[in-house]
Amino acid sequence: MSNTAFSTLALPAALLGNLADLGYSSMTDIQAQALPEILAGKDVIARAKTGSGKTAAFGLGLLAKLDVKYFRVQSLVLCPTRELADQVAAELRKLARSIHNIKILTLCGGVPIGPQIGSLEHGAHIIVGTPGRVIDHLEKGRLSLVDLTTLVLDEADRMLEMGFSADLDAVIAKAPAQRQTLLFSATYPDAIAKLSERLLTAPVQITVEQQH
Ligand code: ADP
Ligand code: MG
Repeated sequence: MSNTAFSTLALPAALLGNLADLGYSSMTDIQAQALPEILAGKDVIARAKTGSGKTAAFGLGLLAKLDVKYFRVQSLVLCPTRELADQVAAELRKLARSIHNIKILTLCGGVPIGPQIGSLEHGAHIIVGTPGRVIDHLEKGRLSLVDLTTLVLDEADRMLEMGFSADLDAVIAKAPAQRQTLLFSATYPDAIAKLSERLLTAPVQITVEQQH
């Protein structure tokens, strides 16, 4: 059996220590396949079922790259719903517990915009949000992506099903062309293939079949 210890990865010691504290003793299949590519800076399309640990796959990638001393939005994670964005933010905060002063902000529709505007004035390293609300903040000039290094589309198939295609294109138009883009999806319909062609550069494709 291959070695799936997190310590085989080029992860900062603080992240490895925290993973041990969290009881994450070995990588899931999707993590073992995707993390080496993500840490190498590649664009990745990853397909795996729910509960396979996709959040830590992209989360450890963006946390490893993040410069906490540089207080600018360096990562954006787009999710189809507020519930999913809240789950992703909670998992990222768990994974980032050993990184002092890291600021992870959620920007979702269906909640009052006022507090979000206030939070944005204070700044953040990582934004997790739904496409409609994120584009709203971008268009009003309250959020800038000029320092973005990593863009994650989580549950991309559901975002397209929910009609977020135009919002995704609008977000991309405001993001630097030079960036790492990671696309996670449970299914891989034609629309996702087309979206990937628009958003990703020479992506590595990873599919993890049903685990038992
Ligand atoms: P997905 O996005 O693929 O549906 P999640 O990222 O939400 O899955 O992860 C599912 C659960 O597995 C979460 O509770 C998470 O904390 C846990 N988890 C993820 N990776 C590991 C790991 N390597 N070891 C132990 N638990 C893990
Ligand atoms: Mg998920």
